[in-house]
Amino acid sequence: MGKPTGFMEFPRRTVPYRDADERLRDFAEIYTPPDEAALKRQASRCMDCGVPFCQSDEGCPIDNLIPEWNDLVYQGRWRDALDRLHRTNNFPEFTGRTCPAPCEGACVLGITDPAVTIKNIENAIIDRGYEEGWVQHEKPATRSGHKVAIIGSGPAGLAAADQLNKAGHLVTVYERADRIGGLLMYGIPNMKLDKSYVDRRVALMADAGIEFKTNVDVGNNVDAKQLLAEHDAVLLATGATRPRDLPVPGRELAGVHFAMDFLTANTQSLLNSNLEDGDYISAKDKNVVVIGGGDTGTDCIGTSLRHGCKSLVNLELLDKPPAERAPGNPWPMWPKIFRTDYGHEEADVRFGADPRRYTTVTKRFVDDGNGQVEGVETIQVEWRQGADGRMQMTELPGTEQTIEAELVLLAMGFLGPETYLSEALAVELDDRTNYKAQHGPFATSLQGVFAAGDCRRGQSLVVWGINEGRGAARAIDQFLCGASELPAPGITLGAATG
Ligand SMILES: Cc1cc2nc3c(=O)[nH]c(=O)nc-3n(C[C@H](O)[C@H](O)[C@H](O)COP(=O)(O)OP(=O)(O)OC[C@H]3O[C@@H](n4cnc5c(N)ncnc54)[C@H](O)[C@@H]3O)c2cc1C
Ligand code: SF4
Repeated sequence: MGKPTGFMEFPRRTVPYRDADERLRDFAEIYTPPDEAALKRQASRCMDCGVPFCQSDEGCPIDNLIPEWNDLVYQGRWRDALDRLHRTNNFPEFTGRTCPAPCEGACVLGITDPAVTIKNIENAIIDRGYEEGWVQHEKPATRSGHKVAIIGSGPAGLAAADQLNKAGHLVTVYERADRIGGLLMYGIPNMKLDKSYVDRRVALMADAGIEFKTNVDVGNNVDAKQLLAEHDAVLLATGATRPRDLPVPGRELAGVHFAMDFLTANTQSLLNSNLEDGDYISAKDKNVVVIGGGDTGTDCIGTSLRHGCKSLVNLELLDKPPAERAPGNPWPMWPKIFRTDYGHEEADVRFGADPRRYTTVTKRFVDDGNGQVEGVETIQVEWRQGADGRMQMTELPGTEQTIEAELVLLAMGFLGPETYLSEALAVELDDRTNYKAQHGPFATSLQGVFAAGDCRRGQSLVVWGINEGRGAARAIDQFLCGASELPAPGITLGAATG
């Protein structure tokens, strides 16, 4: 523990984002570079608790050794901090930018004071590591001769590939998209995670011997059973990419899109041509309604604003969360409280109000007479606990409204992995239509076939993808060799999902 009185002397100060008005003019990352002296002060707020909840149970899903690297940063021992961080996290530059930081929700200091800025410190360690040239991936000294196929290149697939390669197996990652990274590449927008950082990590992994194959859609343009036959083990890390639809009248109208079609095309066009090819769904000069909150909704807001939309409304079905933890949501659980994310702040700066409207149900999309959406009809609802203890929704007559909209983005979550691969393999699904496999063994109903990440647990977080990828790598290593020295990350189940 660097400074025993740090938590009493220094208030929490997060590394600020760029000014909202300025950052709205580009797709560059929203973050500012951290100040080293300020970071050390923030690291000194860590109390080095006897039981560091931040790294266990409800805290960090990959058991990051948080108090240890906080102390090392306070002492200016950045290289040691990086080594400590890489022991548990293959990709701190992804979590340091995108993680909602359940660790901070579980920080012991958070019981009485604002939590330690753990995520900022993690990000600073890895960025410093890259600046100094310390981040390297080495080829394993020996190869086992076992061939492993990983289908899907999101955080789960990449973490598994990295671990299995370290264990000496010959790993090939198959990705149906034209770029590697899963939702790190074509989900989370550039302003939250610059795509050059994904490419940088993938290049290091390729140097260490992992083979990456893009435009390979297993079960479509490549025979799934053939792939199984050619490898000693296969990991399904295909994500939960089937979007939840909103089957109300007018759903077929032009201008109503799934959020991922909007976000993916935007990033692709941005990377291919800086948006000059026009090959994306533009929000420019349009009234935009985003239906659904969460990270996906926020990213649709941020992207629409950067296109130059005319107005923006974000509809939420549920009640506005409370400002403070509710009695049923105590520390160290993930705090289910009202938060203002980057996109909400930007909408406020651009239009003078938070874009979110709560307890609102969409009844119909309005046709302009030419098959193009021109509005969204809504009604307010009330949530009350029913006799069975469940929350029930009642529509409030007289609260009907029509919101002008030429662009509607559906961001209401995902329903599990797409079915063509599970059908081609005849692999068992669970009752939420995810691949059926338990956390720990990660084994599916097919011998030698494993599943990890969103396709197994449902739509979640980058850090959970890394947790599952690491865990599945260990299970595969055990399957291939009878034993494994790869670490097993924690299996806590209570932390946040996104
Ligand atoms: C818009 C959006 C924003 C998000 N923001 C955040 C955030 O800020 N922080 C956070 O922690 N989490 C966020 N998430 C959630 C997070 O991105 C996911 O939980 C995480 O990426 C899941 O990792 P994964 O490896 O399981 O799957 P994915 O990242 O979904 O990757 C799966 C990959 O498999 C590929 N694939 C699928 N089927 C096949 C096939 N048959 N053949 C070949 N390839 C295939 C897909 O093309 C995809 O590239 C966000 C999610 C979305 C949708
Ligand atoms: S990965 Fe997420 S939960 Fe873990 S230390 Fe980093 S910010 Fe916290």
